[in-house]
Amino acid sequence: MTMLQEELETTENVNPYQTVQTQIETAAAILGLERDIVEILKRPKRVLCVNFSVKMDDGSVRVFEGFRSQHNDAIGPTKGGIRFHPDVNMDEVKALSMWMTFKCGVVNLPYGGGKGGVICDPHTLSKGELERVSRGFMEAIADIVGPEKDIPAPDVYTTPQIMGWMMDTFSRIKGSFSPGVITGKPLIVGGSKGRNEATARGCVFTIAEALKDAGKQLQNATVAIQGFGNAGRIAATLLAAQGCKIVAVSDSKGALYNPQGLDLAQVTQLKDTTGIMNYDARYHLQNPQDILELDVDILIPAALENVITRKNADKIKARIVAEAANGPTTPEADKVLFQKGILVIPDILANAGGVTVSYFEWVQNLMNYYWSEEEVNQKLRDVMVHSYRAVHDLAAEYKTDFRTAAYMISLKRVTEAMKARGWV
Ligand code: GLU
Repeated sequence: MTMLQEELETTENVNPYQTVQTQIETAAAILGLERDIVEILKRPKRVLCVNFSVKMDDGSVRVFEGFRSQHNDAIGPTKGGIRFHPDVNMDEVKALSMWMTFKCGVVNLPYGGGKGGVICDPHTLSKGELERVSRGFMEAIADIVGPEKDIPAPDVYTTPQIMGWMMDTFSRIKGSFSPGVITGKPLIVGGSKGRNEATARGCVFTIAEALKDAGKQLQNATVAIQGFGNAGRIAATLLAAQGCKIVAVSDSKGALYNPQGLDLAQVTQLKDTTGIMNYDARYHLQNPQDILELDVDILIPAALENVITRKNADKIKARIVAEAANGPTTPEADKVLFQKGILVIPDILANAGGVTVSYFEWVQNLMNYYWSEEEVNQKLRDVMVHSYRAVHDLAAEYKTDFRTAAYMISLKRVTEAMKARGWV
């Protein structure tokens, strides 16, 4: 293979839309699913591309491009976040919407999968501009979303405040208060207690189960976390509170590593002020990507897709990889990790806590009756532990990796619904 071919074939270029199609095919083959069903599931039902204009602070007008993909609504309305990121593209949003279908299936929520994205860098926008982008996007997609149609939520670089603006825009368009159109809202306008921590909390429940199966516990387990956004940062805090040693963290600016354990309070404080790379320079990792290859008990990719690829899979030394991010591992890397005996808790299980508490939020909105944080967390724990055990048992039965087993559970549910509705 020439250098150029090698470069072109690097799995960094893997298209997430192809990844999810491969994942579906793999599990469908084991289940012996009918071809018609696989063909339907390999594509989203609807993708909307919008261009909307926003007045910027300097008086200029900028056109933003965004997408909303709705994969499959056999089981219920579609559900999934909206991300604001410069690299958003249609294939990525399609793939993310498909992962949502299978995520909701693993944890048995009455939803199909959706996802949205706007191509923008929110860090370069003023608060007013961010609000106008958020409202502009919601206005552009308002026809196809709604509490019984498609329910967005936060994702990469989107926040409860953004959900609040979007809910307000939708409610104004409809002329009635519609908190159930979006989840991850601020508490005062119908958000759920525990939603903000839910992705990380759910992920920690799955890690605790995996360690228990290995005859280990959280106490003193070493952890590396790639990505210090909502999921990564809260996972670090929850794991540290349970006795884990957080030895490495990174964000888009760089990575920190201290085998003795990082001072998490300081890292968190820096994240909120001058940036994590102002931490003691002795603990800066020269190459931030090396965070994935550290010798740790638990590796948590909590940033973006395609970070564990065929290029670095054989160098991964963690015992457990818990995917807080969506799509961090490519199919080729999956095979390598499975052969190496590394347990990958797949995204559609590991990070399903977020959408699970989103579901609780939506239920509370529809009932207009709100639960205590203890109640939310207890229900979340039940869902995560139960789902983990189901995936674990099926993987053992079929001698597959956890991702394939998780897909098998979901595919069975979605297929049953499609048949019950007479689609096939
Ligand atoms: N964006 C999150 C995810 O990828 C949450 C989705 C939701 O709560 O609907 O699972």
